Amino acid sequence: MKIRKRNTIQRRIVEEAVVAIHSHATPEEIYAYVSADHPNVSKATVYRNLKELSESGKITRIPTPNGADHYDHKNYPHYHVRCEKCGKVFDVDMPYMYHLVDNISNKHGFKINGYDLVFSGVCPECQANKIV
Ligand SMILES: [Zn+2]
Ligand SMILES: [Zn+2]
Repeated sequence: MKIRKRNTIQRRIVEEAVVAIHSHATPEEIYAYVSADHPNVSKATVYRNLKELSESGKITRIPTPNGADHYDHKNYPHYHVRCEKCGKVFDVDMPYMYHLVDNISNKHGFKINGYDLVFSGVCPECQANKIV
């Protein structure tokens, strides 16, 4: 019972960090945030809880090609754009196309549960910073 309680507390700490950081953080950034307040929480614990929280739908894992995973406190479907220069991930402000999933399942008989769409580009900050 003791272990179970500790696990619950650690999971809450990790979940709160994702919400507090608020910007599609990588596991490395989330770990840095957590360990500032809770130095006793290990990196493995943070990674394990991120995995479990995303599997249970509390947070969203954003796998990005050629980069680390990012975690999003928003748990509803939306699109992202990743900056090619700094690697940060931003939300894209456009409606989620649910009908894409219907089209695919109709034509191929596959049961589709969702999809990831990550645009790539250069963020305003990196555009302004021309030296890079
Ligand atoms: Zn950038
Ligand atoms: Zn997002």
